[in-house]
Amino acid sequence: MMADPRRTLLLSMVAAGVLVAVFRSPRATAVQDAALGGRWYKGNTHTHTLNSDGDSTPDDVVRWYREHGYQFLVLTDHNFLTSVDGLNAVHGADDRFLVVKGEEVTDRFGSKPIHINGLDVSTTVAPQGGSSVVDVIQRNVDAIRKANGVPHIDHPNFGWAISASDMRQVERTKLFEIYNGHHAVNNLGGGGVPGMEEVWDRLLSGGKLIYGVADDDAHVFKQPGNPDVPGPGRGWVFVRAARLAPRPIVEALERGDFYASTGVELTDYQATAKGITVTIKQRPSSKYRIQFIGRNGQVLSEAESSPAEYVFRGDELYVRARVLESNGSIAWTQPAWRGSSAVR
Ligand SMILES: [Zn+2]
Ligand SMILES: [Zn+2]
Repeated sequence: MMADPRRTLLLSMVAAGVLVAVFRSPRATAVQDAALGGRWYKGNTHTHTLNSDGDSTPDDVVRWYREHGYQFLVLTDHNFLTSVDGLNAVHGADDRFLVVKGEEVTDRFGSKPIHINGLDVSTTVAPQGGSSVVDVIQRNVDAIRKANGVPHIDHPNFGWAISASDMRQVERTKLFEIYNGHHAVNNLGGGGVPGMEEVWDRLLSGGKLIYGVADDDAHVFKQPGNPDVPGPGRGWVFVRAARLAPRPIVEALERGDFYASTGVELTDYQATAKGITVTIKQRPSSKYRIQFIGRNGQVLSEAESSPAEYVFRGDELYVRARVLESNGSIAWTQPAWRGSSAVR
């Protein structure tokens, strides 16, 4: 699969018979994307309700996201597939909001918690167990695939359970959490254990193309503002999809046509054969730096203003952008893959 999201969007549309010949310039706008059928949708892919260890009903949880500027939500209770038909009848009646069914397949190896989200699974997936950390992950990933779901590996540093080496060995998954909003999942690593962004660069530099998700893992909706509980609104994705429906959304995630954020919003992101352009929706009082990152996490260049452009030199394996906002929020684009082939 090509990693260039612009290219893959076009290819998939050609395959769908939607589009025959459209030339996209690097500075094409979000408006043009809309004309082509690709729009940005804000969503959260990791959420709990009273059907597992959340503190609120599915209806209240969906209402929170709908009222806070999101367009879609995946409900992922632990080992439980929460029904979404009734929720969509109420909250999605005007086609502006979508609830996607899902499950956090919650397993372990010894004392290590191993949690794999299954997005848009067709049936409940039972934890599969296994003979090692990698085996437990792989068996659950494969069970999610068998249920027509899209897997994403959750919070690898929670319980210091899943190492970069484990991640490298897992196959048939394209997504993992680079940021999880739960306060106890050790996103940044420490004590010699790498943080999630460092793990990401290690995997990419080793030839494994994988995409980084930010999400909430929200459990607690009744204590707004308390940083010591896993509340909502901390990490999300903006997905570029043809329409607001489960398959277009999860398929866009799987081809890397999205960015992850803890607060920075982009008005546009383009990756072409020539380079990458990032355009920020700026807050008036904030300042930004846009970093283009390549092999081994090296910052290849840094821009101080938007739009920021990176022109490929030709020898990069991948280039991804990280936007740092002066008050601490971050956006991460997915890697534009420059290698000839990706190790699966
Ligand atoms: Zn979990
Ligand atoms: Zn969770």
